[in-house]
Amino acid sequence: MGYKNVCLNCKRVENLGTDFNKFKTRKCPISETDMIFVNQKFRPPKKTDKKGWQLAAFLIHHGFVFQRITDENQAYLSYPKSMEEAKLFVEKYKHKVKK
Ligand SMILES: [Zn+2]
Repeated sequence: MGYKNVCLNCKRVENLGTDFNKFKTRKCPISETDMIFVNQKFRPPKKTDKKGWQLAAFLIHHGFVFQRITDENQAYLSYPKSMEEAKLFVEKYKHKVKK
């Protein structure tokens, strides 16, 4: 297990490793906005991939920080790949995440 901090402004990701004591959010040293603590399963899009980051930001803002989410049959859900899918996904599973 490892976690990451992400800055959605700068599209930067910091790897936090596996030491739980280091798991804390902090301000981005570049934009000075709060970084967001996300699961290791987050695969950051390329910096030039605007749509990819738009999608990631949309999910993260709705509490989907790439943690594992299961459906009603306890099967792991895969995260959406497009905004259209993401909107349906958030609507359907928003009760699964705590804000
Ligand atoms: Zn930043």
